[in-house]
Amino acid sequence: MALWPAWVEQLNAAGSPLHLETPLIQLAGSPEEAQRMKQLAAARPQSGVRFIADHLLQDTEPVWPHVGHGAMLSERDGRIDPLQLLKALRRGLNERNVALRATAVVELQRLSSSSSRWRIITADGGNEDVDLVVICSALGSTELLQSLGHQRPMDAVLGQVLELQLNEPPERWTAWPAVLTCGGINLIPHGKDRLWIGATLEPGTTANQAATETMKRLNDLAPAWLNDARVIGQWHGLRARPRERPAPLLEELEAGLLLASGHYRNGVLLTPATAEWVSNQIDHQMITSP
Ligand SMILES: Cc1cc2nc3c(=O)[nH]c(=O)nc-3n(C[C@H](O)[C@H](O)[C@H](O)COP(=O)(O)OP(=O)(O)OC[C@H]3O[C@@H](n4cnc5c(N)ncnc54)[C@H](O)[C@@H]3O)c2cc1C
Repeated sequence: MALWPAWVEQLNAAGSPLHLETPLIQLAGSPEEAQRMKQLAAARPQSGVRFIADHLLQDTEPVWPHVGHGAMLSERDGRIDPLQLLKALRRGLNERNVALRATAVVELQRLSSSSSRWRIITADGGNEDVDLVVICSALGSTELLQSLGHQRPMDAVLGQVLELQLNEPPERWTAWPAVLTCGGINLIPHGKDRLWIGATLEPGTTANQAATETMKRLNDLAPAWLNDARVIGQWHGLRARPRERPAPLLEELEAGLLLASGHYRNGVLLTPATAEWVSNQIDHQMITSP
């Protein structure tokens, strides 16, 4: 919450506009979760988080899925368009004359008798000697690290998202937050009558159609207008979940070798925090080994 607004301000430009759409509302799934939300709101009065009792939700937002335990509203949380973010980051890199190469790294070699520490060997047959490597290749990181003797296994967890066309958009659509979360599923309106719903959590790399149907029904809490909505788009991606370690993996594995990966479900959310960690590590390495 502290870093994102500053990032958006810095990255937002005419050719690659970037906005932080707020707020986020999370429906409580149980009385216990509602209690935790109340405690969080009470403990952090300055954070823009507050609890909304169920009867208030019922009065003001009758078209939302009704779980029955109230909700947490987080004024400063929300959503950033990830494709716009990538575009803005590319523009920023170009402006700083950073060379971008669209090729896979097939091997990393430790150098002992050269002024550089690492040799990067790429799929296009090229190689380059460098002082510092930051590995951030998600599921592709494991293999690169294995040949250097570092074991950081990660498992793929597939996520599917649906784009829905609403036959009868709910009234007062404008009252929807940027993101409404129900049972871990995000409902994100776009345009006047469309909605993204996501994402499934499916261990492995194969998408299962049944998982999207369960998700669309919202565990049988979906209102009629959502059940009637038509699927007009669908996509999936893989998340990298570290095995037997919490996500993400932010580590200095050895001098000049940083790992910043394994973000599992929160890689977009954690982008500025991860970048700050990497930047601090690089500064530290420059100071300790000029
Ligand atoms: C459906 C879905 C919904 C999600 N929703 C959210 C959300 O709401 N909020 C959130 O914060 N996160 C979300 N995530 C998770 C988020 O997308 C990831 O955490 C994030 O993309 C991780 O970023 P990354 O750059 O570490 O890895 P990736 O995005 O996986 O990128 C890794 C890159 O490394 C490249 N690569 C692999 N091997 C090599 C190699 N040997 N050499 C060179 N390049 C290599 C790959 O081609 C890829 O481009 C979602 C993920 C999915 C699938």
